[in-house]
Amino acid sequence: MAPVTPHWQQPSHPEIQQVLTSGDAESFLTKSISKIKLPPFGLFAKLDFPPCTPAPMPTYATVQMGRDSHLNLNSDLLYINHSCDPSLIFDTANLAVIAGPRGLEVGDELTFFYPSTEWSMSQPFSCFCGSPSCKGTISGAKDMAPSQLEGLFLNGHIRELLAEQQAQGVEREGDKTAEALRAALAQAEKAVEAARAALNSYVESVKGDKNTKKGGVLNGVNGYHGNGENGNGLAKEGLQRRGPTSRELSGEMGGDTIAA
Ligand SMILES: [Zn+2]
Repeated sequence: MAPVTPHWQQPSHPEIQQVLTSGDAESFLTKSISKIKLPPFGLFAKLDFPPCTPAPMPTYATVQMGRDSHLNLNSDLLYINHSCDPSLIFDTANLAVIAGPRGLEVGDELTFFYPSTEWSMSQPFSCFCGSPSCKGTISGAKDMAPSQLEGLFLNGHIRELLAEQQAQGVEREGDKTAEALRAALAQAEKAVEAARAALNSYVESVKGDKNTKKGGVLNGVNGYHGNGENGNGLAKEGLQRRGPTSRELSGEMGGDTIAA
């Protein structure tokens, strides 16, 4: 956490927390050590108002306590660093800081998982907690994959916001699918147009042929109609014909039988 000039009387939690500082004004580091032993989920400190005060916006000195609400700690609890494998839990619904599932030993560094309270951090940073499960850049829960958050305590407002983000993701996936289908439809429409153009040009060429033979066909023995009445062989021939007849093409069937 960034250095901050305390405006509260230090130490604020002398019974439970020891604040260590190192470095100079340029690179000022702080960390906190536990003075007490606690069982898993034992109460470490309450987040009382005061000293806590509501904060309108997230800053490096606030803790997010709800979807749109933040608090200023105004105490040495501010010097509890982030870790991807934390010793403490900030339970904002109960305004309490409690031990993690391992419990707490005297001398343990006091840490909590910042994305368990923070959705979008005002000052992202690179984590060097050294835990095998270190997440690297910490910028708030909004930038973390569900797999990165597995097994970690998350406050209710973070779980809600993650669920909403996931639902929006599903919607975006749906949009992508619709987009792909629209592209496929456009391709299919082009193919249909090409097939229609090929058919029309084929029909035009056949029409030309038939028209030149029209006189011959109609002046033949019986014509198409007559074939059906006069002999099975010829009727079969009529049924097996392919393509439009001269009658159809000349409009005698009462309409254009070729799709335009
Ligand atoms: Zn880490």
